[in-house]
Amino acid sequence: MKNDCIFCAIGAGEIPSFKIYEDEVSLAYLDINPFSFGHTLVIPKAHSANLAETSDETLAMLVSRVKKIARHIKETLPCDGYNILQNNGEAAGQSVHHIHFHIVPRMAGDKLEFVNSKGDMAALQALAERLKM
Ligand code: 5GP
Ligand code: ZN
Repeated sequence: MKNDCIFCAIGAGEIPSFKIYEDEVSLAYLDINPFSFGHTLVIPKAHSANLAETSDETLAMLVSRVKKIARHIKETLPCDGYNILQNNGEAAGQSVHHIHFHIVPRMAGDKLEFVNSKGDMAALQALAERLKM
């Protein structure tokens, strides 16, 4: 666990999150400033900053979790499709330097722009209950 890393603190349960999935090595929770309804982040609990710093084993584990959680979101929400995003470096829009995959649910014709909205905490809490796995 890296000191000053917010996603390590969330992974360790030291900072609350709108958790929808957890196992020994990974955690998935709603993004507090979502691009779309159901925008979810999937992290390994062990710290690594980005794709290049993450072991192949951890990446394989994470992608299998992303697949499982994305399927669940698509079956549970109104959701026609989804984008999987993973930003590396500030130039690419990475703001939290603990590797994470974004699952961004999409609706047909939504013309989504990938911009954070201000999250409504009560609505996120209710959505996390609905998506809990
Ligand atoms: P990045 O831009 O690094 O790929 O994505 C970081 C994401 O983490 C952003 O979409 C941002 O809204 C989200 N985020 C930042 N801090 C927190 C937090 O404390 N809790 C949650 N749930 N999401 C966060
Ligand atoms: Zn970390």
